[in-house]
Amino acid sequence: MTPNYKSQRIGVVVFTSAFIIIGAAAVFYGIIAFISFWMRHDELQQLGVGGASSMGALLPIAVGGIFIFSGMSIMRNKLRQLRLFETKTYSEYIKLNPQQIRNGRVACNRCQSSDVRTKALMNKTYHREHYCGQCGATLYYSPEGV
Ligand SMILES: [Zn+2]
Repeated sequence: MTPNYKSQRIGVVVFTSAFIIIGAAAVFYGIIAFISFWMRHDELQQLGVGGASSMGALLPIAVGGIFIFSGMSIMRNKLRQLRLFETKTYSEYIKLNPQQIRNGRVACNRCQSSDVRTKALMNKTYHREHYCGQCGATLYYSPEGV
């Protein structure tokens, strides 16, 4: 059974968007807090809390920035990986390299070796990578349990 890549893609976008939105909210909050501290700077200075309070606003900006950055990079990496799983399949490989089937065995399209090996990718990808044991080129991917 082929995995439902479309729903996986939606899942990735929803999950990482939540991170990005939380991060953006924190950055927004931090900026507003920072501006309001500086607008009341003289007044707070007299109370003796000026500098410390404005520094406190930098924390949500920094943490929010990390959330935005990691959300975006996880989204990009995961979507790129899903696209590879979806497009770089055995049937695509055979279609693009029909001459690489010899005596019923698949061969590498880079070095012609028929030493094609498989490794599980782990990290909850539920996919295997089929690569050349000679030159290391990735030939195609397949979902686990198929
Ligand atoms: Zn090879």
